[in-house]
Amino acid sequence: MDKKNTIAKIKSFAQSGKCSGNSLEEVFARCYLAVQETLGITPFDEQLSAALSLSNGRMVQMQTGEGKTLCAVFAACYEVISGGAAPNGGIVHILTFNDYLADRDCNWMRPVYEEMGVTVGCITGDTPREERGALYKKQVLYITAKEAGFDYLRDFVCYRAGGTIFPEKLNLAIVDEADSILIDEARIPLVIAGDVAVKESGDIAEFYYRVSALGKGDFEVDKETRNVYLTDNGADKAEEIFGCNIYAADGAEVLAKICACLKAREVLAENKDYIVSDGNILLVDEFTGRAAPGRVFPGDLQAAVEAKHDLRITSRGRIMGNIALQYFVRLYPKLAGMTGTAEEAREEFEKFYGILTDVIPTRLPCTRIDRPLELYYDKTEKRKAILEAIIEAVKIQRPVLVGSESIEESERIAEDLWRLGIGCKVLNAKNNAEEAAIIARAGERGAVTISTNMAGRGVDIKLGGVDCADKAFVVGVGGLLVLATSMRESSRITKQLRGRAGRQGDVGESRFFASLDDVIMQKHELRKLAGRHYPTSKIEGRLTDKTLLKEAERVQRISEGDTFDERVNLMKYTMIGEKHRETTFARRSSLLDGSYKAEMWQKNANEMYRVALGMFPEQELQSLQNHILAALLNEFWSDYLDYTTYLREGIHLTQVAGRNPAEEYNIACEEYYENAAESIPDRMTDKLRDVMECDNLGEYRLDMPTRTYTYLLNDMGEEFKAKPILMGMFDDYETEAEKLSDNPVDNGDNEAGKKGFFGKLFGKKK
Ligand code: ADP
Ligand code: MG
Repeated sequence: MDKKNTIAKIKSFAQSGKCSGNSLEEVFARCYLAVQETLGITPFDEQLSAALSLSNGRMVQMQTGEGKTLCAVFAACYEVISGGAAPNGGIVHILTFNDYLADRDCNWMRPVYEEMGVTVGCITGDTPREERGALYKKQVLYITAKEAGFDYLRDFVCYRAGGTIFPEKLNLAIVDEADSILIDEARIPLVIAGDVAVKESGDIAEFYYRVSALGKGDFEVDKETRNVYLTDNGADKAEEIFGCNIYAADGAEVLAKICACLKAREVLAENKDYIVSDGNILLVDEFTGRAAPGRVFPGDLQAAVEAKHDLRITSRGRIMGNIALQYFVRLYPKLAGMTGTAEEAREEFEKFYGILTDVIPTRLPCTRIDRPLELYYDKTEKRKAILEAIIEAVKIQRPVLVGSESIEESERIAEDLWRLGIGCKVLNAKNNAEEAAIIARAGERGAVTISTNMAGRGVDIKLGGVDCADKAFVVGVGGLLVLATSMRESSRITKQLRGRAGRQGDVGESRFFASLDDVIMQKHELRKLAGRHYPTSKIEGRLTDKTLLKEAERVQRISEGDTFDERVNLMKYTMIGEKHRETTFARRSSLLDGSYKAEMWQKNANEMYRVALGMFPEQELQSLQNHILAALLNEFWSDYLDYTTYLREGIHLTQVAGRNPAEEYNIACEEYYENAAESIPDRMTDKLRDVMECDNLGEYRLDMPTRTYTYLLNDMGEEFKAKPILMGMFDDYETEAEKLSDNPVDNGDNEAGKKGFFGKLFGKKK
């Protein structure tokens, strides 16, 4: 579409007031007027342009502070009004970065929606379930992707017909801060767990204690994946300690636990990866740098970390369902997004989500000064320079925002400043709730704010304070100064940080510090990249070698490429589970709402069923059959998830045997799914037997969890990155696999060629 023309048309419609029709231009014109009338501001052309892109299903790049919140309203209203006829056709979910923004944006924009005759609502973590059903019927809903995803999962563990709330058919999602949700957090699985009959998991505290016998030389840490591996020596020792062959099929769980304990002890660091608060382990989100309550380490790792700190081992019951954010977002047939940094991820948006990116120029030219990388020999030198930069700003009362890498680093800088008598505000896990208010004031005269990665994203930083009272003064000293304390894993994250200054044409400056001992430099081996340009002994002050600097910047691009590849690779593993989840979830909801009639008893236990018909009314029996099958699908799905977790722990071993792990993994999942599905008719027959022992059907109790709860896993796919380093064990694997294939541990079903390597190695779980 010719945007310029369209925008002119919209404005002329608005001027004439002749815009009662439902064409795009007319709806936008009505919206334009509604914004003027209710909010007292006039939308800029750039905002109309962004809104048009959103309506066109695009990813919109628009700088921070340019007014994206308003753009989404235009696109949402048009979708509602133009799609209203179809069932659920018009509904729009605006997926926000956090609960605070969902609430803020909904209430901020509500008058515009009301003026437009569009219903709007907001759901946050605090919204009670009883109220959510009605809110999901609103035409426009502000909600975080996480919260929506959890409701989707909760419906999967709903055991009551009519008890589900999540819309059956989704329509359009407009994702705010889209790169964060669609890329940085995309892999994070949302999990729903329930307190159901938990399988014995072994006493991890005891394990942790016994693993203390393993020391230097017994294991190696893979720097890149942060996984721990036993050396040959360590493996021998471990087998002695635990009295089993840890590389045999039935030793896999022991091996996984040993590695979890070692990782908890050797790799995960308090205050960097997690914090201990009130006897609980709270994970630190690597992107926001904030504690993420409810998020836990995967597998045995959480319990191992709890054991490390002598905490009570929390029992978590069983995982009943999960979905990674990227797959959840794909459930929406239409998708659009907006963020300050989309350009860098253009390829990824297209490849993973099939959406194109439109870049909207800023309304006023950007006058922020972005300084080139300032590189130092080590962290000490770097910190000295950062402190100097802060002191310089404080002297002239120029506001400074420091973007640090971790809570620990924030606190160290704050301590240094306090020692110098400089007060500052620190944003970290401990003052989560006030974060938005503090960041909003980061532009005040003399303010020093230290914040982890992207804390307070989506909040406007106005020069001279929230009311701009001191704006002239702050402009006079150069505007907001942003200091990034280390090189980020992608230039997108660096750019987000820089974008905190210089909003809407404001003056501002960003500086960007790094040192040779930054994690990213070590991980990608800057020393090798830079060769003879790499310093051989300590250098004080800023490093000036041009080649060294160029290579240091290249590290970021290498890291970007790596994480991109990782995400592509992970996709290969997760696709199969997605297919299975989709089928299982769909089957289950059709059973619950009665649109599908289960006939397992009629078909597989006909005689018994006929007897049952003599005892109970047919309709009730049918409805019970549907419910029992739905519950059984939950059980089946939990088993499946258990199995796939178990499989992932050892997936890298297939590389040892020269096979393609992704392929092997897919084969194993597919086989498990099919075989487990085959067992369902028999399990249903067992249930019918139980039913017939009841005097009346009301007596029958479904197997269901006493309680369910949701959380986010920290990451997924670590296992898939693992490299086999136990090459010395190669022969043992082969023989182990062969032994199993000749002498299967399962029910003897061993069609040659059908089973993958994993089928052989682990056998099927019963
Ligand atoms: P973004 O999400 O792009 O960072 P916001 O939607 O939070 O930006 O808006 C930033 C600021 O710009 C807000 O304070 C808002 O009130 C203001 N703003 C947005 N649009 C306009 C407009 N057309 N005229 C005046 N102020 C506006
Ligand atoms: Mg915003």
